[in-house]
Formats: sequence, structure tokens, C-alpha cells
Amino acid sequence: MKWTNKGHEYDEIAAHLIDKKTRYYIWGAGTFGIAFCEEFCKEFSFTAFVDRNIRKQGTEVCGLPVLSPSDFQKQWNGEIVIVSTGMTRSAYEQLESFGLVRHKDFYHIDEISSIYMLYKYGKVYLSDLTIPITQYCTLKCKYCNSFIPKIKNPINFDIQQIRDELEAYFRWTDTVNILGLVGGDAMSHPRFNEILRWIGDTYYPERARHLEIYSNAVITPTPQTLELFRKYNVFYRFTDYGGSSGKQNIDQITAILRENGIRYDHVKFTDWFDSGYPQTTNGITSEDGLRRFFDMCDRKSCHTIYGSKLLFCGQCMSADWIDYCRLADSDYFDLSIYDETRKREFVEYNLGFNQKGYMEYCRMCNGSLNVNTHKIIPGEQLG
Ligand code: SF4
Ligand code: SF4
Repeated sequence: MKWTNKGHEYDEIAAHLIDKKTRYYIWGAGTFGIAFCEEFCKEFSFTAFVDRNIRKQGTEVCGLPVLSPSDFQKQWNGEIVIVSTGMTRSAYEQLESFGLVRHKDFYHIDEISSIYMLYKYGKVYLSDLTIPITQYCTLKCKYCNSFIPKIKNPINFDIQQIRDELEAYFRWTDTVNILGLVGGDAMSHPRFNEILRWIGDTYYPERARHLEIYSNAVITPTPQTLELFRKYNVFYRFTDYGGSSGKQNIDQITAILRENGIRYDHVKFTDWFDSGYPQTTNGITSEDGLRRFFDMCDRKSCHTIYGSKLLFCGQCMSADWIDYCRLADSDYFDLSIYDETRKREFVEYNLGFNQKGYMEYCRMCNGSLNVNTHKIIPGEQLG
């Protein structure tokens, strides 16, 4: 979204959201919707969940009924809908087909929590941050959207640099819901345990409510790593490449995680998306078209730090790493000098506002979930 009233974009909306009489539906009875419900049950009055999955419909989650979209349509009476599903595009389209209006009747989950906490309590509460700790990876995926195999001289990021970046981020941020370590393969950093221990001791759970590791199930966690996972209740996330890598130790690693009571998410995608590398344009030429594309792309809410720059999307950081597409000044929020008076602007940036309403790399990139139609086989390896 393009800034038109920087620092005041949510002033009108906020008055409605913090009104105690407002009631809410949560669209999506999955991990994010449930976590939101648990976190904010004392702040909001929830009516029900809504979910397209017929196995969830008719059940109860967090003490609330789970409705089908058609039952929701019959009983909706002006309540606000919080969209918590990753399939935002189809959720928005369905809600619009029922006559609901975005930013009046329904909001993305990240918008609700951040706007509410800012306007009600003056706190900066953000949904997520991933911090890259290494450019090394144990795999060489042909269509890696982080361009890891194309980095000529990869590095493991220096611990002091990681500390400085997080300290800058937490000067601006009171609480982030999910703080994730990413690579390449985050676990290939030789000082992984030291980094995790420092982050856990410094920020978990008060400032970083949940810690996550994004890995690829190649490196088996050591007993010391497992102990840290338990201590900080770390969530281990990995993607199953369906045997195409030939290197993943999924059965062994998931058995170890289960034995140690470590929560994990084993995601198996049927398709990946080709970012289009190398190309000079994705064919979208109008400013409005680029803004719509950026707005619908789910990667725009995968916030990441690069030096003292906060970015919407890790892909544009990686494009900069390999000199494929240089960052423009409007692409990032500069965290280096804290300014209390820019708090609302900072939250707006995190919710998708900047000077242009998109990033420079959105001109070249085919995007991700919700917008990318170039499907490919997951995890195909380079020779
Ligand atoms: S495992 Fe992930 S980071 Fe590593 S090369 Fe494959 S897609 Fe890239
Ligand atoms: S279009 Fe590409 S650069 Fe833009 S937010 Fe999506 S993934 Fe990131």
C-alpha cells in the first residue's frame, strides 16, 4: 500500500477496533487463528471461527463453534472478520462476494493485533521477523527463491552483527509474535547453538513470544541443540521435498523431535513457485498493477532484517545479495536511529505501507503464494 497519510493511516479504523462493543469472527481455525484467539481472548469478544475445511466445521475450537462460510454468510451481522488463513486472496474474494469490504468489515490478522496494541496501549506488537544467520545451505535447490546456490562466496553471519541487528529491531518493537532463524539452512551455521542461546536468553518469551527454526531436515540436531529447543520451546519447521533432494533425514529427525517433545511442522508442498530468475520484468508495468501484486503476494509479510534495514520480504534481500536487483531506498525501513515519534509509521511499514506501495524487486519477481502461477516441482536439485 502506498503511504498517503504517513503516521495516521489507521487513525479512523483504530477507533472502531478498540471499541469494546465490537465483536469478531476469526476466518481460519488453523495455527495462527487459534494462537490469536488464545492471546487476545481477554481483549476481544469472539463469536465463532469460520473454516472451509469440512472436517473442522461443526466442531469447537477454543470454546467457539467452527462455521462453514455459508453458515457465516447467513448469520453475519456487521461483526469484524479477522482473516488468519495463509490463502488470503481466496478468503478476501469470498468475503467480498458476501458483500464485506476490506478495511471496514474484514482485516488481516496482523493488522488487527498491531493496530489494536498500538492505539489501545501505545505498544508496538508485530507478527513476525525472520533473521538470516547464514548463506550456507545443505541443499542446492534449482529454484531456491533465496538464490542460495547462486551466492558465489557465502558467509555465516557474524554473531555480533546478528546481535546488533536484533538490538536495533527491539528498540523499535515491544513484542514480536514469531521470531524465526533462517538461512540457507539456519542449522548449518557452526555457532547455531550460541546464537539460539543468546536470542532465547535475551528475548524469549517476553519480547519474542515464539521462536522458530526454518531448516530442511538434513542436519540432525545434536543433544545440546535439542536441549535449547526444549528450553525455549522452539518450533522446528521444514519442508519435505518428496525425495527429490536425496539428502533429507525426515524419518530420523522427526522421530528425535517427537522423543524430545519438540514441536515441529512437516510441510509437504505439491508445487513450488518459480520466481522467474533471470528476468528483467514480470510483465506488470503500471504502478497500480504493481501495488495490487505486492498487496496480494503472501511474501510481503515475511519480514526480515538486512543490516539495519527492515524489509517486507526476504526475496528482495536475496536478490540484492546476488546483485540481481539492488534495493531502493523506499524498499526498507531504516532501524539505525530510533525515533519515538515515528512509532506509528514503523507499524504502518510493517503492515505493508511504503513510499511506492511495492518494492523494486516486485517488478521482476513472479511473486509467491496468491499471485504466482508458474508452478514447478519442489526441491529439484542442481547437479
Ligand atoms: S533448502 Fe531452502 S534455502 Fe536451501 S537451497 Fe533449498 S530452497 Fe534454498
Ligand atoms: S512480488 Fe516478489 S519481491 Fe514482491 S513481495 Fe512478493 S515475493 Fe517479495
